[in-house]
Amino acid sequence: MSSCLFCDIVDGKIPCEKVHGDENFLAFRDIAPAAPQHILVIPRQHIGSLNELDESLANMAGELLLLARRIAARENLDATGYRFVINCGADGGQSVGHLHLHLLGG
Ligand code: 5GP
Ligand code: ZN
Repeated sequence: MSSCLFCDIVDGKIPCEKVHGDENFLAFRDIAPAAPQHILVIPRQHIGSLNELDESLANMAGELLLLARRIAARENLDATGYRFVINCGADGGQSVGHLHLHLLGG
């Protein structure tokens, strides 16, 4: 039994409203949206937070940004604008200990 909520979502143990899924990433709608469009983009691999990023994860970090940007375009947010947020640690407002990018728009 995983102790990580987003790993449980990756493993299909907890349902989500999926927006995108591929070999390395998953994107799904936030359960408590803070904007008309609020999508979370996560790596399937468990990475606790931005604090764990190092050179070995540079490609993953770049792909995460590019994917989020593509999803923003697919959701028709690119014309009106959108925001990416990554919270890190307690003082950064991070409540789920699995790296995730918030895509907020609309
Ligand atoms: P954080 O505060 O860690 O940056 O963001 C965690 C986000 O996950 C919050 O916006 C919260 O609403 C969302 N969240 C928490 N539990 C669930 C869940 O079970 N399903 C989904 N789809 N989102 C969740
Ligand atoms: Zn996890």
